[in-house]
Amino acid sequence: MSRPKSLISLSPQEFVHFLKAENISRFYFVYDSKNNVLKSSHAQLQTIADFIQSDKRDFMRHEGMFFQITRHYDTLQGAFVHRTNRGPGAGGLRYWNYNTIEDYLRDGLRLAKGMTRKNALAGLWWGGGKGVMAHNPAVDKSDPVVRASLYQEFGELMTSLRGCYVTAEDVGTSVTDMANVFSKTRFTTCIPPAFGGSGNPSIATARGVICGMEAALEFIGDAGLQGKTVAVQGMGNVGGPLLRFLFDKKAKKVVACDIDPDLVQQLKGELSDKYFEASMVSSGDNSIFQAECDIFFPCATGAILNPRTIPRLRARIVCGAANNQLEDSDSDGQLLCDRGIIYVPDFLTNRMGIVNCANEQYGYVNDDPYIERHLTKDWEYSIHQMTLKILQESKATGDPPTGAAIRMADNLSLENHPIFGHRGKQVIDSLVADRWH
Ligand code: NAD
Repeated sequence: MSRPKSLISLSPQEFVHFLKAENISRFYFVYDSKNNVLKSSHAQLQTIADFIQSDKRDFMRHEGMFFQITRHYDTLQGAFVHRTNRGPGAGGLRYWNYNTIEDYLRDGLRLAKGMTRKNALAGLWWGGGKGVMAHNPAVDKSDPVVRASLYQEFGELMTSLRGCYVTAEDVGTSVTDMANVFSKTRFTTCIPPAFGGSGNPSIATARGVICGMEAALEFIGDAGLQGKTVAVQGMGNVGGPLLRFLFDKKAKKVVACDIDPDLVQQLKGELSDKYFEASMVSSGDNSIFQAECDIFFPCATGAILNPRTIPRLRARIVCGAANNQLEDSDSDGQLLCDRGIIYVPDFLTNRMGIVNCANEQYGYVNDDPYIERHLTKDWEYSIHQMTLKILQESKATGDPPTGAAIRMADNLSLENHPIFGHRGKQVIDSLVADRWH
């Protein structure tokens, strides 16, 4: 990517000041496929559009990106709409600190593209998108009044986008924040159960991880978890329930760690009758990577599979919930492959978070078949079946599983919605025609 020394190197707050001086409160970048150019709503921002378009990895012809500066608390908010062939772009809203506009844009592009892939591989009729809000260090984000205002304004942004993107909860955003988004728009999921939302998906996510791991065991001709030793990094909302499922499946021994001492104590107490070793670690402590085990489950943070940790792994299979486990999706995937370790891509196994909330508007039934089928062994898009397909494709081509999964996902993401076709693109075209900005 070329690096014009310009707007992209500003901090988000410097950029907000620039926009205010230019009298810009909303702007967009929209892809014109006929002329193969990403166009900016404002001539003075075209250098940013050019910068985005020159990105070889994550731009991938994003259909549109829409931004606003909030009326209160000078905060940059954006909706990255990657691909809408299968349906509106769907993905969570991240509230995070960014040093530069470049970091902010790169994160949005990467995350939105990732949601396209996750949704397509899950067989959901959704496209991919992501909301990103840059924290303004001058405001207290723990103040409920500030948060309510920011998330309500994000809800207004969603309404203005007429449904080409549907938001959800993500890192930095809580259920209460989602209630504030919901107070201003219908284009959101993950609203609190008290308002008809689907609630915490973590148990379903843990079940999904188990499905991916069992498929990987089947792939190598292994009967199952019984008698296995496993290691788990992170014992939070997903890791905690996962531990119990592992013992239900008759794992012989579980070694786990977390940086939260209370959680470690609590789970040690709950699982005191099991062969369970749990330790409290500091955040830089990577000792879990060299635990003697058959399977390693990363359920804490991202980028933990890298040239420093992969050589230490003793597991034969890596399969977890954490998002973006590979620090570099190409080279680290290859490194695992070279070591003969089977890696089940995270965006395949941790789909239940989005599956759980994706169809909130269709109502709820007991043991919902539209959710449960993802966890069966036979549905063609189930985690089990897709894991097997990806591992077979990887074996046949010699590509790491992530590469095979990405190819499959990118093909699926270009299928048009069976009823509405590529409507998200039409919505974006109408926003441009009506001068949304
Ligand atoms: P969580 O915050 O409840 O749990 C994560 C746990 O990891 C915490 O207990 C934390 O203390 C621990 N941790 C952080 N750094 C650590 C380290 N260096 N070593 C050991 N432990 C560490 O989050 P969660 O909901 O359980 O999600 C876990 C991961 O899965 C996250 O990456 C999340 O983005 C991803 N994910 C979760 C869901 C879901 O349904 N909750 C869905 C999709 C993806």
